[in-house]
Amino acid sequence: MKNVIRLDDYREPRRPAREPRVPDAPRFFCLNCDTDQFKLYASGIVHCAACGALIRNVEVINLQERRR
Ligand SMILES: [Zn+2]
Repeated sequence: MKNVIRLDDYREPRRPAREPRVPDAPRFFCLNCDTDQFKLYASGIVHCAACGALIRNVEVINLQERRR
């Protein structure tokens, strides 16, 4: 029985899992090519950086104009 190693004594204890967190911002990705990089044009429209698809659910507004 000398060759028996108890793994509980041998390994260091595992760290507890971190608390689940809600993502701090909405995450967008292109449904066509799965990238998460986009190009914003001066007119305010957003296109996918990889395939050029129009991204309709991302809206860019000018907050300073809206406050007036
Ligand atoms: Zn794309």
